[in-house]
Amino acid sequence: MAPVQTLDNNKFVETRFGKQLKPSSKSTTYDDVAENYDGQYRFAPIQEAQVSRAMIKRYFETMYDRAISDVVIVGAGSAGLTCAYHLASTRPDLKITIIEANVAPGGGAWLGGQLMTPMVIRKPADRFLQEICVPYEDEGAYVVVKHAALFTSTLLSRVLAMPNVVMMNATAVEDLIIHEDHAGQQRVAGVVTNWTLVALNHDTQSCMDPNTITCPVVVSATGHDGPMGAFSAKRLVSAGLLKELGNMRGLDMNRSEPAIVNNTREVAPGLIMAGMELSEHDGKNRMGPTFGGMIGSGIKAAHEALRVLDSVNVVEGKVVSTI
Ligand SMILES: Cc1cc2nc3c(=O)[nH]c(=O)nc-3n(C[C@H](O)[C@H](O)[C@H](O)COP(=O)(O)OP(=O)(O)OC[C@H]3O[C@@H](n4cnc5c(N)ncnc54)[C@H](O)[C@@H]3O)c2cc1C
Repeated sequence: MAPVQTLDNNKFVETRFGKQLKPSSKSTTYDDVAENYDGQYRFAPIQEAQVSRAMIKRYFETMYDRAISDVVIVGAGSAGLTCAYHLASTRPDLKITIIEANVAPGGGAWLGGQLMTPMVIRKPADRFLQEICVPYEDEGAYVVVKHAALFTSTLLSRVLAMPNVVMMNATAVEDLIIHEDHAGQQRVAGVVTNWTLVALNHDTQSCMDPNTITCPVVVSATGHDGPMGAFSAKRLVSAGLLKELGNMRGLDMNRSEPAIVNNTREVAPGLIMAGMELSEHDGKNRMGPTFGGMIGSGIKAAHEALRVLDSVNVVEGKVVSTI
């Protein structure tokens, strides 16, 4: 099994959603502070530099720490977030780093079909809703969450509360690290990142070099083909690791959801693909506005990531041998 960095257990508290960050016990009282809504509300004093340093210190310490991660998840849509939840709650010892290109995480799961609010989820994926405590109406073969945003915001808050998960949003993966491994095989060994605003401006500015994160397993869940979507699937083609994109096929709910879940796998050494990106990679049908496939694929991706981690020896984030 991969050696993992130990996280500080004193910072965790056991909750019904697994281990979560303890609220800070540091608390200073200020006499002139008042929560008074009759015109006398007074905040504790602050210096502008304190605000800057509070953010900079934490953000850059996190970047420094996560330059080597155990798992990087690319894309915080429904598949990527479900994967992160399952991985982080199953293995609180793993450093899981999510890279999301957009400012707002959540991908396409803030609404159901045709911009309507209800979200349909086919059984048995309703079990995941029970696990994260999202209420729904049971319609027999499927369930309906009253607003897709209730699912996405709940899942997002559960994931971000996990002490072993870091999310860097407004940050794009603009390439994959691809090494020749110990057996002479091409292996995805991490991701190349940049601020999304920088990534979008490579044509207008020159020489804006990226950053890297090294890890033994990348889970790519970047969604449909688009300006950013299907990123890793397309990169596998241009890197010569995949002959061509399968391209997403026409809508067939009954064929597509099990196909995405059951085929979620390590598509190249070190790279697991989940969610709708897999439909572009494999040439599978789309399913339209039913989201159980994204949940099942995220959980399967977490299982696959654990399988890979259990099959290799890792030193400083690099796979050095198989077990
Ligand atoms: C043309 C089209 C057709 C659709 N058809 C279907 C359908 O048939 N079935 C269906 O369920 N849904 C469909 N949707 C809606 C939606 O894409 C999915 O419902 C669902 O949100 C997919 O989940 P996902 O987690 O795979 O990807 P998404 O929800 O799309 O999440 C992907 C995330 O990855 C991020 N990302 C992408 N590239 C990068 C990168 N390089 N670096 C970092 N982050 C990145 C994105 O910002 C996004 O947040 C469709 C959407 C479009 C645009």
